[in-house]
Amino acid sequence: MDLILRTARLTDGRLVDVHVADGTIVRVTEAGTEVAEAGTEVEPTDAAHVVDCAGRVVIPGLIEAHLHVDKALLDRERPNPDGTLAGAIAVTGELKRGFTHDAVRDRARTLLDQAITNGTTLVRAHPDVDPVVGLTGVEVLLTLRDEYRDALDLQIVAFPQEGIAKAPGTLALLRQALAAGADVIGGCTYNEATLAACHEHVETVLDLAEEFDVPADLHADFADDTSDPRFALAGHIADRVAARGLHDRVALGHVTSLASLPPVSRGAVLARLAAAGVAVVPLPATDLHLGGRSDDRDVRRGVVPVRELWDAGVTSAYSSNNIRNAFTPFGNADLLDIGLLLAQVGHLSGPDDLGRVLEMATSSAARVVGVADTHGIRPGAAADLVVLSTTDPAGVLLDRPDRNIVFKRGRVVAETTRTTRLTTRSKELTHA
Ligand SMILES: [Zn+2]
Repeated sequence: MDLILRTARLTDGRLVDVHVADGTIVRVTEAGTEVAEAGTEVEPTDAAHVVDCAGRVVIPGLIEAHLHVDKALLDRERPNPDGTLAGAIAVTGELKRGFTHDAVRDRARTLLDQAITNGTTLVRAHPDVDPVVGLTGVEVLLTLRDEYRDALDLQIVAFPQEGIAKAPGTLALLRQALAAGADVIGGCTYNEATLAACHEHVETVLDLAEEFDVPADLHADFADDTSDPRFALAGHIADRVAARGLHDRVALGHVTSLASLPPVSRGAVLARLAAAGVAVVPLPATDLHLGGRSDDRDVRRGVVPVRELWDAGVTSAYSSNNIRNAFTPFGNADLLDIGLLLAQVGHLSGPDDLGRVLEMATSSAARVVGVADTHGIRPGAAADLVVLSTTDPAGVLLDRPDRNIVFKRGRVVAETTRTTRLTTRSKELTHA
């Protein structure tokens, strides 16, 4: 046995010991019991690295299902001129002209290190692929996927932010990216000039998913409302995914315009998404920041209705999307922060709702990115685990406690401890 986490509290409140060998969880036993089942001897504990969790909450590694690693931390170079999606695309498009491998790598490392510190053990990254930036982001992330393999799983999405038809040359680059080892084909349906081009974009992305046998992950319907049909494609995409038999292989990011539909129409689209096995990934930090910019009163929230995703049975995760750039000038690569934001904006509260929100960054996110078989706190899962500085499962999102220890496949990859002293009282408040 390599590692035993003693007296770990699961989010359902149970206290358990988690036994790890060769980076994999082999047993989860009631805390303090030395046998998993009658007659099964456990190796002497002195053969293992033992971590006493002392009742602290332990969660599976957090998953960023949608993160623009290549474009992060650009906010100090040039801000968004008008706060809109169009403004963000324009200013970032200009900055991309100056991207170098070294600069992208430096910003990416800073971001990934921060994500690991905050308990993230898998990132699905969406580097831009277009004739301006070429494969710079993909190439950097391919090297980082290897460099970080002991600390973080990195999935690389070849992402045509500037469109495919609208940016000639992009299709060939997407093929090169997939041939070079990108894990997922991306899409950006709304960045085409016409509805017909948007439909063609969807077909091209799904063709590539089939040809290279990779999942697809598209940006879709990122608008305040569905008045422009290029921003009302979720149902169409669901139907095309179903027709091609790509169940559980396609995710959609944003889908904010869905919130503007009347309930009956909304319910019909959600049912098509659920039936097709198309996942939806709200990106609340960006959705809130760029949405509602033309509203002069009662500014819209512009986030897909999360409870309705749950009720309709749509697989869902949430993610940071952008961090400190023209799309989202905030963020610390901390999924607990984003989860609290999602709860606040989505009218989600109480232990049951907050527990489901946390699942959107753990077990549900694992389904979205295709790693459900190896994720979780159960035998057979990778020992990607986060020990939190709280003993209260309900406090995980409300308190966003320190990530005391982050394990990647059973190895410690980050530790955080803090001590706070209340100097006006003779008492030390220690966060273990
Ligand atoms: Zn995105």
